[in-house]
Amino acid sequence: MKSFEQIKSLENRYHMNVYGRQPVAFVRGEGATLWDSDGKQYLDFLAGIAVMNVGHSHPKVVEAIREQAGLLTHVSNLFYTEPQADLAQRLHDLLGWGKVFFSNSGAEANECALKLARRWARAHGSPDRSGVVVALGSFHGRTFTTLAATGQPHKHEPFAPLPAWFKYISLNDEEALDQAVGDDTTAVLLEVVQGEGGVRLATPEFLTAARKFCDERGAALIVDEVQTGLGRTGKWFAFQHYDVAPDIVTLAKALGAGLPIGACIAREEVADAFKPGDHATTFGGGPVPCAAALAVLDIIESEDLVARAAAAGERLTDVLLQATAGNPAVNEVRGLGLLIAVELAGEWAAEIVGKALERGLIVNNVAPNAVRLAPPLIVTDEQIARAVEILADILVGYGGAS
Ligand code: PLP
Repeated sequence: MKSFEQIKSLENRYHMNVYGRQPVAFVRGEGATLWDSDGKQYLDFLAGIAVMNVGHSHPKVVEAIREQAGLLTHVSNLFYTEPQADLAQRLHDLLGWGKVFFSNSGAEANECALKLARRWARAHGSPDRSGVVVALGSFHGRTFTTLAATGQPHKHEPFAPLPAWFKYISLNDEEALDQAVGDDTTAVLLEVVQGEGGVRLATPEFLTAARKFCDERGAALIVDEVQTGLGRTGKWFAFQHYDVAPDIVTLAKALGAGLPIGACIAREEVADAFKPGDHATTFGGGPVPCAAALAVLDIIESEDLVARAAAAGERLTDVLLQATAGNPAVNEVRGLGLLIAVELAGEWAAEIVGKALERGLIVNNVAPNAVRLAPPLIVTDEQIARAVEILADILVGYGGAS
């Protein structure tokens, strides 16, 4: 096996320089634990950025992948396969509505949602509609269109010009939303909790207004649940914390337990706007990622992980608050379920994440002043206690508290 330095030098020479990587190469995972190339053990409080909801190398996922890989890995979407049909039904049943298109990633799931919303607008007699309203601070992907949908202007600049049909409003600004949604609007695209934007929650009033304006003005409401979906926030879908139902939901991250799969799920009347040939993918919904996803859904159900995420999220928040009480380095602990940010009084997040890594805890600097925690939903109370002990101890060095 190669040493970390060997892996790093290969990467530096042969991989494009786009990732600000941490100085560690992982080789194995189990549950909420990872091991690096030197055999050092880590507590994973990031879960591959909200991907490994069922934990690393869950035996049922491993078995499903192994079994499906031995049977059939790819035939293209020119043919039917049972895992894809079964998974579409399962997602429909989870939501209680909808038809599904499978992609390979979150960005592609959003791309599908945006194409579908425009097709639907045309199908119901609004040929001139093209606008999409999004929130500042959002993250929807890295393709040209989903980058344009991402409400972070500094990410746009290196690639301008981008598709120009997006309007950006502040999250939770109902008045701005009212102004922005018009007769030319195809869709409002929102995250219920902005993950990459620093774990920022939409207010119930804002989401209710989004639903109302979409209904009044004939636009589709798309909720991006790529990061929040499948139990992460203590409900199957984050929008279920609110009294609002979208027309289209997108999923990815946790669905395949690390295998590339995304899903765009739309209400039947919206979904039926797509006609054969309107949209397609070579790999999307392949038998192996679908088999993994079916195992993921089974595990979330059989191990009651949605309820566990709610309880563990509360516990993690409480313990964090207790352990950092009186430390002026911490401004706020916010989140929903097991998607949590510790907001700091200064821009120390990168440094704190580095120190945590040295001490065997994986967290992430989601913003210069915010540390994100998103452990697997199977995380134990003991692991929560250990993670908080490490983090609180590091934070003492920043707030001067004892
Ligand atoms: N949407 C949200 C809310 C995300 O958090 C992400 C990724 O972080 C994406 C979309 C893009 O997903 P992917 O990286 O799989 O394309």
